[in-house]
Amino acid sequence: MREEGLPLRGTPVRPLPHRNRVWTSGRACAEPGCITRISIYNRSQYCWVHEPLHYYVARGRKKAPQAA
Ligand SMILES: [Zn+2]
Repeated sequence: MREEGLPLRGTPVRPLPHRNRVWTSGRACAEPGCITRISIYNRSQYCWVHEPLHYYVARGRKKAPQAA
């Protein structure tokens, strides 16, 4: 098959894509004023402090410290 005359011939040759998607290192938390760096393995744009989703383990109610 000849492909002459095609205005576009697919994607140009690119270097090999990254094997592992490594998130840009040195990202800062998206929270204004927060300078916490986010791990490259953390997909969130927030640091663990400002991450909207918190998966905390519910361990029952914390008992208020009783004055003993
Ligand atoms: Zn933060």
